[in-house]
Amino acid sequence: MNKDEFRHWSHRAADWAADYRESVAQRPVRAQTEPGNIASLIDASPPEEAQPMQRIFADFERIVPDGMTHWQHPRFFAYFPSNAAPAAVIAEQLAGAMAAQCMLWQTSPAATELEIAMIDWLRQAVGLPEGFKGVLQDTASTATLCAVLTMRETALDWRGNQAGLTGQPALRIYASTRTHSSVDKALWVAGIGQDNLVKIPTDENFAMRMDELRAAIARDRANGLVPAGVVACVGGTSIGAMDDVREVCLVAREAGIYSHVDAAWAGSAMICPEYRHFWDGAELADSIVLNPHKWLGASMECSAHFVREPETLVKTLAIQPEYLKTHGKDGLVNFSEWSVQLGRRFRALKLWFLLRAYGLQGLRERIHNHVAWAEQLALRLGAERDFEITTAPILSLFSFRYKPDDASTDLDALNLRLVNAINDDGRIYLTQTSHDGRLVVRFVAGQFDAQESDVEIAFDTICEVARALQR
Ligand SMILES: *Cc1c(COP(=O)(O)O)cnc(C)c1O
Repeated sequence: MNKDEFRHWSHRAADWAADYRESVAQRPVRAQTEPGNIASLIDASPPEEAQPMQRIFADFERIVPDGMTHWQHPRFFAYFPSNAAPAAVIAEQLAGAMAAQCMLWQTSPAATELEIAMIDWLRQAVGLPEGFKGVLQDTASTATLCAVLTMRETALDWRGNQAGLTGQPALRIYASTRTHSSVDKALWVAGIGQDNLVKIPTDENFAMRMDELRAAIARDRANGLVPAGVVACVGGTSIGAMDDVREVCLVAREAGIYSHVDAAWAGSAMICPEYRHFWDGAELADSIVLNPHKWLGASMECSAHFVREPETLVKTLAIQPEYLKTHGKDGLVNFSEWSVQLGRRFRALKLWFLLRAYGLQGLRERIHNHVAWAEQLALRLGAERDFEITTAPILSLFSFRYKPDDASTDLDALNLRLVNAINDDGRIYLTQTSHDGRLVVRFVAGQFDAQESDVEIAFDTICEVARALQR
């Protein structure tokens, strides 16, 4: 591809992006494709001869968009949002053009220094005290893994990295039954093991029971096991469960163990002071993760990982063979030492564009609206005779169930059929979860461009599709 062609196709891609965003609301939200449909359209082997861009681009347009679920669709109400605000998308185009490998300060000084600045902007935006530093990890799963590795190494006085875990005492990590599966996976990967994740029961507000946490730590100590850390949940994925972060962190301090707060989704809402009560006490945590790539609008992957003491994290993860040393420049931040991966993308640019292009006010207004619309929808659905709100809105997430009078059928099966029928309909996209042993439907408002009318369409679609179900 020569320079002129590069310019031409870059423009073409930018035009495509603008057209796509403008018309995405006309597409079905969830891909309406069957498994294998897309695979059958892709050549079985790579071409020997170069192919013209014309043809490559045409195949993209023909094959890919219809095979996608449209996360930037304003009526995406499934999972949690994965927003990519237009300004962030533009920053990603620029970062992609430079394609820098941002592992060390010297491999990308602007990326490193902008990342330090953006972490501090975010820290201020969510009201964390000065002193918290941080890094942009790819995902919350990675941030939580890094926190768990830090728990492991602090508990083992850094013997784990050196000697491995054989012969070491069993480490114990505590989290509520409502925390995300990334915590389980972090323990698998860290070699601590699922059996050493102590799942603490929750109370009637879905928060970790403090008496149970204290008892579990004491019991483990008495049995010669080594408590290493606790993970607090702020906005659990299933129904939005919130732990009492202050209490969890105080128990952790009392026990001398590391604390990590998983606020992957709900953390973005902390830019609104009126929601900060949800993580009251977060300033006491050792480590906190929130994903600007979820609700805030920075495209995947952008996970802000704050730490009270960067030294502990860096001591756990820094490895410096000669070829990675930056001689003669002391005190530099090399972000690869704050994470598992060595090579890393320029993630800070999209945050810089996002925070400036919308301002905190613009971002807060969106989050407020999402919360208000979810509350209104829960009220409207709850007022219908044949619907039941199964968990009240926590921020912009609630769950419900269709429960017609005449249902002789299994309500779990009926609601699963409802979710599938809604997603086949295509106007909106919802997902299900299991809550207290029952299958319920989740509704999460949060797409960046969503309007109140989109939530009204959700109400109409849910009622229409439910009442048309064959029972
Ligand atoms: C989404 C989510 C995660 C996982 O986030 P990734 O960035 O996809 O790894 C973890 N915890 C909670 C509470 C989440 O909502």
